[in-house]
Amino acid sequence: MQVTTQPYDPGPAAWNSILPEARSYPQLKTNITADWVVIGAGFAGLSAAKRLHELHPNDSIIVLEARRIAEGPAGRNSGFMIDLPHNLTAEDYVGELNADVIQTRMNRHAIDFAEAASIEYQFTPEAFVKSGKINAAATSKGTKHNHDYAHHLDHLNEPYTLLDEKHMRAICGSDYYQSGLYTAGTAIIQPALYVRELAAGMAKSGGVSFYENSAVTEYKKQAKHWLINTTKGSVSAPKLILAVNGHVESFSHFKRRLVHIYLYASMTRQLSNNELESLGGEDSWGFTPADAMGTTVRKIAGIGGHRIVVRNQITYNPSRIADQTKLARFAQKHQQSFIARFPMLNTVNFEYTWGGALCLSRNNVPAFGELDEGLYSACCQNGLGTVQGTLAGILAAEQASGIDSDFLRQTLSLSQPSRLPPEPFATIGANVVTKWGEIKAGKEL
Ligand SMILES: Cc1cc2nc3c(=O)[nH]c(=O)nc-3n(C[C@H](O)[C@H](O)[C@H](O)COP(=O)(O)OP(=O)(O)OC[C@H]3O[C@@H](n4cnc5c(N)ncnc54)[C@H](O)[C@@H]3O)c2cc1C
Repeated sequence: MQVTTQPYDPGPAAWNSILPEARSYPQLKTNITADWVVIGAGFAGLSAAKRLHELHPNDSIIVLEARRIAEGPAGRNSGFMIDLPHNLTAEDYVGELNADVIQTRMNRHAIDFAEAASIEYQFTPEAFVKSGKINAAATSKGTKHNHDYAHHLDHLNEPYTLLDEKHMRAICGSDYYQSGLYTAGTAIIQPALYVRELAAGMAKSGGVSFYENSAVTEYKKQAKHWLINTTKGSVSAPKLILAVNGHVESFSHFKRRLVHIYLYASMTRQLSNNELESLGGEDSWGFTPADAMGTTVRKIAGIGGHRIVVRNQITYNPSRIADQTKLARFAQKHQQSFIARFPMLNTVNFEYTWGGALCLSRNNVPAFGELDEGLYSACCQNGLGTVQGTLAGILAAEQASGIDSDFLRQTLSLSQPSRLPPEPFATIGANVVTKWGEIKAGKEL
């Protein structure tokens, strides 16, 4: 089977660019054999490799990545590993109560796994911080979303703290926000650092070998093995885990069942001491928008200096390739959202603007399970890929190893991603929904 489309994300992977030069891994240029192959070095692929190594410490595990590690979506996101319900297709993130209770337990399992890895491999503290997060509201409608969300949290028996305008200003230095809702269970990561250090930890401890710039172009079953061809080499192994997110469709699975979108973000240049003084607030904080279509904002203070990161704008890309030429327009939109929030920083420009792929399904389920003998999928993470990618990787490794668990049974009991409407209706529908969502988000954008 040919792999039809290779991954592409427009613009620089800023989180990776602000770090010192990364450790590099070789390109696969020979024909090798292994016990396990994982394709994709995002949250799902790295977590699958780690769990496989825990379960089979003497086995050889190969991870193939089309690009450099941390250059793909796993190193391009906003870094919120959220434990609570976060359904992007619902205006206020929540779903049905029982499903949300189970999802929260599963999300926490993934966050615990990430935290354990951060301790085992002695991550740089900034890579993984269990800081909690704030749902920030700039309008009365956003505040109402937060109150509705709080009401749902009451039913889930989950604690939270409501923050007023003054408290929000004390945190972020801006009087843009009317209110906030703080919950403690979220981990905030520096995504590129997290991904790099997770891979480096495994590489150092042995058992897992990484190949970068090794895009898989073709794969086929040969007797009891999978033969996986890359641009310059090949691996043969009895078991293969696909951890390529929406690109599972490029591997000929879940065709016309996955929604391929891109999200966009910008990061400022480093802020000077004077600028930091005029901004005020805390050193680092993270706000998700109370309205799912609004703007995510982070203030960071770490290896890459003090900066602000803004994320909004969505495009629907059924071809799985985004249009690089739209970045300049999105950078302007980001600038507007930035200046509206931080007028005291009106001379600060963005150093980076980028996009990254995200995969959803219409019924908010993953593309998960055994697809063929010895072939497993840990793909389509919906709105919470840092957490659900981690979980999918853990569970795919367990399923492939014949290990049973409540979480695995729960995931296998979900229905398949539902079919998309035919074109052009799917594209028209997606564009109308995103445009209308952005208009309705108003000042939350
Ligand atoms: C701007 C932005 C903000 C976001 N913010 C958040 C957030 O705050 N919280 C959150 O939970 N999620 C967020 N996300 C989503 C999150 O980044 C993704 O859902 C997550 O990266 C998915 O993890 P994954 O491991 O399944 O897939 P990916 O991270 O996409 O990893 C898949 C890997 O497979 C590789 N691959 C694909 N095809 C091949 C091939 N043929 N051969 C070899 N390798 C291949 C790719 O290069 C890629 O590295 C955001 C995304 C973006 C773009």
